[in-house]
This record gives sequence, C-alpha cells and structure tokens, in this order.
Amino acid sequence: MTSQITVLGATGSIGQSTLDVVRRHPERYQVFALTAATRADEMAALVREFSPRYAVMADSEAARRLQAQLNCGCETTVLSGTRALVEVAEAEEVDQVMAAIVGAAGLLPTLAAAEAGKRVLLANKESLVMAGPLFMQAVRAGGATLLPIDSEHNAIFQALPHNYGGDFSAHGIRKILLTASGGPFRGCTAAELENVTPAQAVAHPNWSMGQKISVDSATLMNKGLELIEACFLFNCVPDDVQVVVHPQSVIHSMVQYCDGSVIAQLGQPDMRTPIAYGLAWPERIDAGVQSLDLFNIARLDFTPPDEDTFPCLRLAKEAFSAGGTMPAVLNAANEIAVEAFLREQIAFSFIPTLIARVMARHDVQPIQHLADVMAADQWARDCAVAQLDVANGRVNA
Ligand code: NAD
Ligand code: MG
Repeated sequence: MTSQITVLGATGSIGQSTLDVVRRHPERYQVFALTAATRADEMAALVREFSPRYAVMADSEAARRLQAQLNCGCETTVLSGTRALVEVAEAEEVDQVMAAIVGAAGLLPTLAAAEAGKRVLLANKESLVMAGPLFMQAVRAGGATLLPIDSEHNAIFQALPHNYGGDFSAHGIRKILLTASGGPFRGCTAAELENVTPAQAVAHPNWSMGQKISVDSATLMNKGLELIEACFLFNCVPDDVQVVVHPQSVIHSMVQYCDGSVIAQLGQPDMRTPIAYGLAWPERIDAGVQSLDLFNIARLDFTPPDEDTFPCLRLAKEAFSAGGTMPAVLNAANEIAVEAFLREQIAFSFIPTLIARVMARHDVQPIQHLADVMAADQWARDCAVAQLDVANGRVNA
C-alpha cells in the first residue's frame, strides 16, 4: 500500500529533500498535501509534478497567485491560512506528516499531526522546544509515531536500543554525544565576530540549509535548540548530553554506554539520509545519497564547544533548566533576533545579548495548555522588539 504524505514546508530545504526521496519511490509514497508560506511559483511546479489533493499557502494572496497559475484541469484544491495547514496535517487519509515549516509557525500543524496519531517526521525542532511537554503528551495521547529528522537526533535514534523507553539506566546509557559542526565561525574570537555579515553567517561549511537555521548554526543556538530537543525526545536533562564539536560533520551523533561502548551513526552531510530513514522506518530505502568514502575523509576531529564566545548554547541550557515557558521565550526571542540580524538591524554579537535580556525579564509560568505557550511566545516577541528599539536608541531603557 502506498503511504499518503503531507509535506509541511514543501518549498524549503527539508521539503525539497523530502520530495527528492519521495520522487525516487513512487510505488511507496503518494503526496496528499503540500504547504508553503509565500512562494507560489515554486509551489505551482511542485503541484504539477506531484498532483497532491491539496496545496496550502499560509498567505492568502500567495494562494490566489498559485490558483491563477494552475490550469483549470488541475485536480488540486488550493487553500490558505493556519486552519488549512492544520487540516491537511490531521486529515484522516494521511499516514505521514513531514513537519518542515521553519520556526514557531510550525507548532500548530505539527501538534495537530501528533494529536491525530500520525507518523510525524519532525524536522521543525522549534515546535518541540516551545511546547516540549505538551508535544510529547500529544504524541502519547494520539498514539503517534515520532521520528526525529534532525540529523543528530536521527543518529541518536539509530544508536539507541530499538526498545528504548525513556530510561537511560534501564539500558545502560551513560551519555548522548551531540555533535556540532561549529558553524562558519568556529575558532573565531568574540572580537572577530563583531563585524560578520549575514552572507558570511549563512554560508555553512558542510550543510546547505534555510537561512534561519544557518544563522542558528553560526551562533550555536541551533545546538542549544537541539540540546533541548534531545532532552524532550529522549527524556533526559542537559547534563546527560555532551556537545562535541566535530567539524567534518561525518559522525551525526553518538550514544555512550556504561560498558565503554560508543555507538555512532556516520554518513554524508545530506538530509536525505535521515529523511529516508524516517519515511521508510523500520525499513531502509535508497535516498540518492552517495556512500561515505572513509579514505577520502581520512580524519575526524573533536573539540569541546566554546560557550564563552558563543553564549547561545548556555542560554538554551538555562532555558531548559528554568522550564515551563522559558524555552518558548528563548525560541521566540531568537527568531526576532535572527530576523533583525538578517535585515542588518543588529550585529551578530547582539543576538545572544538580546535573547538574554528577554529571558531575564521573563516570569516563568508552568505550561498546562497550548494557550500558555502561545502567550509566552507573543510576550517574548513583544519584549524582544521593545529591546531592539531600546538598543537602536528609538526609546529610552
Ligand atoms: P527553509 O527556510 O528552507 O524552509 C521553510 C519552509 O517553511 C518553507 O517551505 C516555507 O514556505 C515554510 N514557511 C515559512 N514560514 C512559514 C509560515 N509562517 N507559515 C507556513 N509555512 C511557512 O527551512 P529549512 O532549512 O527547510 O528548515 C525547516 C525546519 O527544519 C526548521 O525547523 C529547521 O530547524 C529544521 N531543520 C532543517 C535542517 C536543514 O538541513 N535544512 C536540518 C535539521 C532541521
Ligand atoms: Mg541538526
């Protein structure tokens, strides 16, 4: 039987890699719905190729442009708005949902897929960071299967015992070793980071990714978000996770056991590998990825992260330890800071400063309902914008 898939964020880096794997296996996968924010032209090309039942644009004007491009004979229904994103994630016909919207915008549809008991391929780490306890509860209550697509978490998932149920000691696990490339500014001093540009920040040495996650990789916030993601996914705390800077990005992460064993997953830095693993699990399928040439790689290096020069990793640990609404606040403040940096409104080094200022002003609340998360997200965005105005001298502190 073919598996029906909804791809949330189809025009993005992960969305395109997902569709590339799907394209190789037409007998296994059928596209039920594709979604995107604004890029109607790219969406039109995808709709023509994959003939989904639904194409959803988050933006209504983009939906009109898409509709205008599709000829009358097209059987795809074009929809727009958040409600439609949620509907194609939870629709009864859907077996798997690739959650690849970037940022907090992915939370509602990803959560809906979990609540509806789908097989959720989770690339959108921000939704788990924001609402970790609620999200994991939705997975359990909905009977969903949660498969991590973030390469590190996919590697950890592959290196954990197949029956891992969330208890390190029951399986003799000592630590998760979360690898980090170190990003484009690895080895730089704080002074050298002062004047780096958005173009330099998004030029990742190993991975080709969307703009936001590329900046996150440069600040090490990506590793901070991933540390929180690992804590929620694998039921552990920051002390159970050691970040290891490994510039070659060949080992995608490891699990260390009490008998001295370390199990690693290796591969090319190509997201089609974890995506194919998620799509086919527990089977394996061709992902279009070349085999690793170990002789060509020749050496692997490992160093500890520099948390003084890259404070975002520390801020993420603090946010997880503070608990409740603080991870959502960290995430929202980071989204505002990254956008401001990309628009050249703030310096690269001001990103962690802004996040720290917002976190310092936050009064942590417990998370009981989604509304608690949404309120904290909005509060943090408003606070971050106000702090930007203070920093830019538009208002007094
Ligand atoms: P991207 O910017 O390339 O694509 C983002 C997608 O989300 C696009 O399809 C865009 O149309 C859609 N989108 C953006 N804003 C939206 C909104 N407000 N409403 C609805 N849709 C919206 O990003 P990406 O690099 O593909 O990353 C997607 C997610 O996967 C992120 O959460 C990222 O952290 C995670 N991830 C990416 C990679 C990677 O290699 N790119 C690796 C691991 C995890
Ligand atoms: Mg990753």
